[in-house]
Amino acid sequence: APVELPIHEAVLGRAAEYGDRPALIDGLDGTTLSYTELDRLSRRIAAGLAASGVRKGEVLALHSPNTVLFPAVFYAASRCGAAVTTVHPLSTEDEFTKQLKDSGARWIVTVSALLDTARAAARQVGGITEILVCDRAPGHRSLGGLAAGTDPEPSVTLDPAHDLAVLPYSSGTTGTPKGVMLTHRSIATNLAQLAPLVSNGPDDRVLAVLPFFHIYGLTALMNAPLRHGATVVVLPRFDLRQFLAAIEQHRITAVYVAPPIVLALAKHPLVADYDLSSLRYLVSAAAPLDAELAAACSRRLGLPPVLQAYGMTELSPGTHCVPLDAPNPPPGAVGKLIPNTEMRLVSLETGQDVGPGESGEILIRGPQVMKGYLGRPAETDAMIDPDGWLRTGDVGRTDDDGWLHVVDRVKELIKYKGYQVAPADLEALLLTHDAIADAAVIGVADEDGNEVPKAFVVRQRGARLSADEVIAYVAGRVAPYKKVRRVEFLASVPRATTGKILRRELRARERSSTPR
Ligand code: ATP
Ligand code: MG
Repeated sequence: APVELPIHEAVLGRAAEYGDRPALIDGLDGTTLSYTELDRLSRRIAAGLAASGVRKGEVLALHSPNTVLFPAVFYAASRCGAAVTTVHPLSTEDEFTKQLKDSGARWIVTVSALLDTARAAARQVGGITEILVCDRAPGHRSLGGLAAGTDPEPSVTLDPAHDLAVLPYSSGTTGTPKGVMLTHRSIATNLAQLAPLVSNGPDDRVLAVLPFFHIYGLTALMNAPLRHGATVVVLPRFDLRQFLAAIEQHRITAVYVAPPIVLALAKHPLVADYDLSSLRYLVSAAAPLDAELAAACSRRLGLPPVLQAYGMTELSPGTHCVPLDAPNPPPGAVGKLIPNTEMRLVSLETGQDVGPGESGEILIRGPQVMKGYLGRPAETDAMIDPDGWLRTGDVGRTDDDGWLHVVDRVKELIKYKGYQVAPADLEALLLTHDAIADAAVIGVADEDGNEVPKAFVVRQRGARLSADEVIAYVAGRVAPYKKVRRVEFLASVPRATTGKILRRELRARERSSTPR
């Protein structure tokens, strides 16, 4: 059944029970907040926000890398009935301005290191009531100051089924980022639905290396572990050395990562220098993960198979996961459908539902489906049909036991002479080559106007590898229509923080280098 609770209650409802246990630890300087402190801090900050005028129904922009205060601010906003729009800490002034305008945010909470961008964006937008900082900065009220105040706690009655908890922006991988309206109910319910994967207990220590501002980090690294009394060790960004050192030092039991980190764990020499024996499992989501790469990673670390999950911002975010106790998940599967959720797979050619073994676009219906895109009714209607089915834009296939495999995004499939080629398949294959450190594939037009796969390849440091060798390597392992027909070497593949390949940047590069 749906969980009808405001998110701060769904997560911190049992904080008193966990008491002095550490809720959050700063992985760099060791600053620790116990559950009691986190709960108190979120109440004090809520009181301060309410005294500054934050009211139910307003939007607060949270512009911060991962810090131990991030969750306190998030739950404080929820206590005021305000929706949090999370902002990428590396947003440019322009990007930030767009999000402020689009979301209608009137409050910004930032950190002093990012204050200049926040100020500049606020100036462009106008109508920002106040900028608050999570640490000390001259001329601005700090949250520390707010938290020390004596203002009364806000008492707000929320309707979890309708009031917005979070207004994240979709990653913008395929187009303009859109504000995704997620209610308290959809977020709280999805936490319960994902419990087979994210129900860390009080003895677990998870490493928050993926950003809280993205729905994956927000769910798997913040809401879920704090709901279950686990300890979250916070890092501000991914740096392999810091990541490995934190696992060793804090005896981390679980890591939730994206495919590029799996790649580093499988291949990077540094990994051998650290004691990672505290790890019990590793979860990967947000982008396609190759089964062989996943196997190489778990073999090297002596862990059970990498557990995958699948979702999207519009789905609060999860629909599939490999449960922690699954005895033998098939290699490459992103998981099984979680409870109280329906899925259909619809053929791209005929529009008819397909059965096990056949590919189709993934359609989802359930309590975690977003309310819609903020201020974009036409785009919302194109995404969710009148019966409540959301089109994910992803192609998937199930096996006889109901395990889902994600093929690729509908929009990314390359149509070569009537055949469909999934870039994700070719990327996975390329990564199995010893001399290849990273790879991305897009469709480009050849001389005859056919769309053909082109590989962008990053060589392992010091390795020698020619374009012909890359072409031959793939040609020897796939059906002829899937062959890579163009190769370009790059210093790095453009990726978002969550590991998603920014194919639009590769396409732009392609357009600017191809004479017309
Ligand atoms: P935008 O919608 O703005 O273009 P985006 O789709 O990348 O950006 P997100 O909501 O962050 O924004 O990502 C969801 C997408 O990530 C899914 O639609 C899917 O394509 C991909 N994805 C998520 N999990 C997996 C997974 N386990 N395997 C493959 N792809 C995944
Ligand atoms: Mg999307």
